[in-house]
Parts: sequence; structure tokens; C-alpha cells
Amino acid sequence: MSELIPPYGGRLVTAEPSGAERRELAARAARLPSLPVADVTLAHMEAIATGVYSPLTGFMGERDCRSVVERLRLADGRPWPWPVVLPVPEEWARRRRAGEEVALLDSGGRLMGVLGLEDLFRPDPRWKAAAPDGEPLPLGRPDAGVMYAGGPVRLLQRRPARFPRLQQDPVEVRATLAGRGWRAVAGILTRHVIHKDGEYVLRTLLEGADGVLVQGVVADADEPRDIPARVRVRCYEVVLHQYFPAHRVHLVVQGVSEPLGSPRRALLGAIVLRNYGCTQAAVTAEAAGAEEAGDEGLGLQMVQELYERFQDELGIRLTFFTQPLFCDACGTMVTDKTCPHGALERVIMNRERLRRLLLAGIAPPPQYTRPEVASILLEWARGAR
Ligand SMILES: [Zn+2]
Repeated sequence: MSELIPPYGGRLVTAEPSGAERRELAARAARLPSLPVADVTLAHMEAIATGVYSPLTGFMGERDCRSVVERLRLADGRPWPWPVVLPVPEEWARRRRAGEEVALLDSGGRLMGVLGLEDLFRPDPRWKAAAPDGEPLPLGRPDAGVMYAGGPVRLLQRRPARFPRLQQDPVEVRATLAGRGWRAVAGILTRHVIHKDGEYVLRTLLEGADGVLVQGVVADADEPRDIPARVRVRCYEVVLHQYFPAHRVHLVVQGVSEPLGSPRRALLGAIVLRNYGCTQAAVTAEAAGAEEAGDEGLGLQMVQELYERFQDELGIRLTFFTQPLFCDACGTMVTDKTCPHGALERVIMNRERLRRLLLAGIAPPPQYTRPEVASILLEWARGAR
């Protein structure tokens, strides 16, 4: 019996039929009305069907969506910060009715899953204004010809995995963590290379946990200004292998890009990590969206306020990290919480400065980056110039 924390909602949702059930559903789907959907929708469907978004079993209908936008709760009262919706063209929606099944296709026309259509609704023009934090949500304007289709999904086909060995479902990760005897599991989600600032966060987490689950967040395609995912994943592997005890870290790759980059998203990230078996999670400036907002303290404070409202119900403990950096006077990695010195004593580095150094063929300072990581990044930069 696993001693891991139960998933959020108590049960890990799985909606990926196999065997005869799968064949039957696929055969029936060939005769259903169909809908080509975007990659982000397919990513959400996989997250729902593999339990990453437990307890969600499908795309949100109007009641859940409204409740999530207005009070950060599902209609049943459970805290949930982020609308998980399936946008459909209004013209298509007019020909559908609740109770139908719909075959969901990828952009190449391949059958990916089946939606049990329960609800079709228009976005409410008041929703954006109603979001208490003013945070932009992935909801269209009501006059844009977009509606939303809600209902349970069943997954028939996954998108090709970019990192098959590392892309693991919650059920697989939970089995691994339980097999290692972990109970107190800390989690972190990141879209960035782990430099010494990231190591500082991992080590701090490890002091209070049996192990750390590192989830590298990887989108379907690399952003032109980002370090490509394949380079990033090599960096994760080398840092974790060289500088951490192997039995205390576990690396996976997460294909859903939502749970990072704003206060509501950070809360979703905490739920996702709990579904993977985490009892605690790090909230960094990155997770809080402080990088985008340009104000580290504000982003973290907003997550903290949200967290305080919901922490008892979320059942996962969050640790908040201001940006760690190297202080020459202290001779070690510090944060504003742990060192009295100022900018003159500190090695200030950020992603933009790092990128410029790399593209100029210059290794980042060793106080910031491990030599193994620097050489992987410089090799990439030589090709990218
Ligand atoms: Zn200092």
C-alpha cells in the first residue's frame, strides 16, 4: 500500500480506455460528428484523462467555468483556479445539442478522443472584470464567434511524446515514488534551465522532504527566444545526476504549459503536483509569473494571498522563494530573506543577460552556472548564432 498523499479529490481520474472498450469507442467515433481542435486542447484532454487535473473528468460546462472565474472554485465548492475549456466555433455549436457525442480530431484529422457533450455556452462579458485579481484567463470575448463545449472526455490517442522516457503519468510517478518509500514529497515545476539558483531551491526543499519531484514543463513547440526543450532536459539530467543524490530526486517532463506564470496558474501547479504525489511545492518567482509582471515580490505575494484562502482545502504545503543569487560577501547562494548585502556584492543574472552571454560565446559565471551546464548551453549557442 502506498503511503503517498491521495490525489486532489481523493481519486486519480483515468479516462483512457484500452482493449475492446477502446476498439468499440474508436469504431463508434468514426460515425460521430467531429471537431478538429488545437494542440492546447489535446494537451488538456491528456491531462484530464491521465489524472493530472484530477478531479476534473472533462472540459468545464458553464456552471463550473463561471464558478472558477468568479470564486476560484468548481461548482461543487472545491477550490480550482483555472478554466479548462474547449473552444468551438459558434457556427459548429449551432448544429450540436447536449447529449451527443463528438469525435475530437487533431489538426491532421486523426481521431484523438471523444467528448460527451453536456453543455454549450458563450463566455460572459463580465468574467474578465469579475476575476478578483484581474488576471487574464484563456477565455474569448463573447462577440468573437467562439463558444465552449463542456462534458466528459475519453482519450483514444496521445500526441507524440517529445521525451517518451520522461513523460510519465501520475499513476506511473506515484508508483515510482511509493516504491522508493517517499511520503513527504516536494515538487517543483519549471520552464527554465536549473542553475545554482534552482539548485538552491531544490536543496532547501530536500531538507524538509524525502525527495523532490522535478517537473520540466515542455510545450509542443519551442518558443524562438527560449532555450530549446531538448537542451534544457540535458541540463536537468546532468545537474541532477552530478549534484544530487540519485535516490532523492525524480525528473519528469510535463507537457501541459498552463500551470506556471501567474498566481492562478501557480495554484493550479500545486494541484497538479499533488496529483503526482507531492505533499509540498515550491512557488518561485517563475511560478508566480513575477518575471512577466516584472515585480517579483508582488507576484509571490498574490500567490501567497490566494494560497492562504485555500490552503486547508488544497492539502499541499507551499514554500515561497524569492530569487536566490550568489553573494560574494556571504560566499554562497542567498536570498533577500537570508543575506543582508546589496546588489554590489551580488552576482546578478537573469535569463536575458544569460542568453546574450551565451550567444556571444561567453560562459556564464561559475557562481551562477555549473561548468557541465555551461558547456551544454555554449554548444547549443554555437549552433544558434
Ligand atoms: Zn550576503
